[in-house]
Amino acid sequence: KITLEELKSSFRDVIDFPKEGIVFKDITTALKRPEIFRHLVDELYEKYKDLGITKVVGIESRGFILGAALAYRLGAGFVLVRKEGKLPADTHKKSYALEYGSDTIEVHKDAIDKGETVLVHDDLLATGGTAAATLDLIKVFEPKKVYASFIIELAFLKGKDALGESEELDIFSLVSF
Ligand code: IMP
Repeated sequence: KITLEELKSSFRDVIDFPKEGIVFKDITTALKRPEIFRHLVDELYEKYKDLGITKVVGIESRGFILGAALAYRLGAGFVLVRKEGKLPADTHKKSYALEYGSDTIEVHKDAIDKGETVLVHDDLLATGGTAAATLDLIKVFEPKKVYASFIIELAFLKGKDALGESEELDIFSLVSF
């Protein structure tokens, strides 16, 4: 059994990445450990197993890792949300503001059917900009219910507020810093 302290210390802080002044939470030190990788998948599986989730939506690119493992365990399908220009067929797009400039994400138009129960997954919730754009993108499919899960939440950045937790949206992270 992995304790919360063990889990928290399995992540590595990388100073000044990707630029000066930022302390980057690196999850690769956790993922490479078999017992931690399994623990992460199992914990998320336990939370979502009885909620009727039919699609897991992974956010490029670290959201694909546990997102895919989780979809397999839940018996759900897996959907990719990618940066602009990577998906080959017709897409819905959504642009969102970054600290400097903007970014655009896409999802295939036929990725989700109306009335599905969707779990959006990413490795880390920071300001919430990426996840908020993803949730906006998903809305066009008119899902019955949407859940959002993260391995890590940087609570001091108030990403949960940016996402707006509500009756329609349930937000969860395994670890908070
Ligand atoms: P946000 O849009 O500000 O919430 O940033 C979240 C996105 O940036 C996610 O896709 C994360 O993968 C990535 N990200 C931001 N900060 C970190 C970090 O410290 N470690 C790993 N990923 C991060």
